[in-house]
Amino acid sequence: QNEKDSQFIVSNWAKDHYQKLLHESEEGESIGLSYLMQRGLNQTTIKTFELGYSLDQWDDLLKAAQKQGFEAKYLEKTGLTIVREDDPNRRYDRFRGRVMFPIHNVSGRVIGFGARTLKANDKTAKYLNSPESDIYHKSDVLYGLFQARQAIRSEEVCYLVEGYLDVLSLHQGGIKNVVASSGTSLTESQIRLIGRYTDNVTVLYDGDAAGIRASLRGIDMLLEGALNVRVVLFPDGDDPDSYIRKVGDQRFKDYLEKNSQDFISFKTRLVSQEAAHDPVKKAEAIRDVLQSIAKVPDPIKRQVFLQQTSTTFGIDEQVLITEYNKLVKKDS
Ligand code: ATP
Ligand code: MN
Ligand code: MN
Ligand code: MN
Repeated sequence: QNEKDSQFIVSNWAKDHYQKLLHESEEGESIGLSYLMQRGLNQTTIKTFELGYSLDQWDDLLKAAQKQGFEAKYLEKTGLTIVREDDPNRRYDRFRGRVMFPIHNVSGRVIGFGARTLKANDKTAKYLNSPESDIYHKSDVLYGLFQARQAIRSEEVCYLVEGYLDVLSLHQGGIKNVVASSGTSLTESQIRLIGRYTDNVTVLYDGDAAGIRASLRGIDMLLEGALNVRVVLFPDGDDPDSYIRKVGDQRFKDYLEKNSQDFISFKTRLVSQEAAHDPVKKAEAIRDVLQSIAKVPDPIKRQVFLQQTSTTFGIDEQVLITEYNKLVKKDS
């Protein structure tokens, strides 16, 4: 317990340190803060999410921590520093020259960081994350949930996006009920976490092939978690952040209204262009939808979805139910 407390304390201290650098250092302001402004974020959003900046140096955080009297092992355990391969007694900062996104647990304590490079042609990863620690388990965390939880309850829906910037831009645009799975594909424990606040999830993934693939995976998992799922697709090449920046807050909200579809329509529409006149493809599409329906734990909802599928595809409901039962048997 003492161990965890120490990790919380050092993480919170590091958050303060990075935040101070963003707002009060020459490098932080001219590189970090100006980047965030250029991405359209205002001071309120930057403060609400406690964004920061790590200096482009090997040991800025390490030195500052030593000055404060922090034991090196806690920097190590929280992944803020990395042991040097050539000399295990020496360490260096993991995050350098990056915008820092503190990751909070549901009670608002900092448990880890996401960090974005600001270099246009960085050879290292665009985003770095804290490694697993006693206080940070990335599969149990949703970025932005601490800032979103009240809005999720009152709006009775949770918007699920892919990235940090998507959360920040939507929150700033007045859509505060938004969280990100940030780099991992959605996990069961993240879904249970959402389920503590609402039964309704709308998936807003990037409008590229990867985003669509991730949506399809996510849908089945959310259904299994007994959540109601809707999906909004964005134009290819756009993500929620770039799209809200392009069209503005009001048109973005209108777009969500107009383009949100339930998972059956989403799956149907994805395959429908090619499937419409091709019986083989159409049959595949139907089975695909049936597979998703099979994930729904509630028998009444399943029944409603089967009816809807029957109407959507113009297939007799009894035929559909027979096929559904076959599929379910095969799987078990
Ligand atoms: P930006 O708009 O700043 O370019 P993004 O959030 O749109 O970022 P994507 O490439 O769409 O970036 O990735 C979505 C999310 O996946 C990121 O926010 C980040 O959490 C995670 N991610 C992206 N690239 C990496 C990476 N190389 N390593 C680890 N996580 C990553
Ligand atoms: Mn993407
Ligand atoms: Mn983006
Ligand atoms: Mn993106």
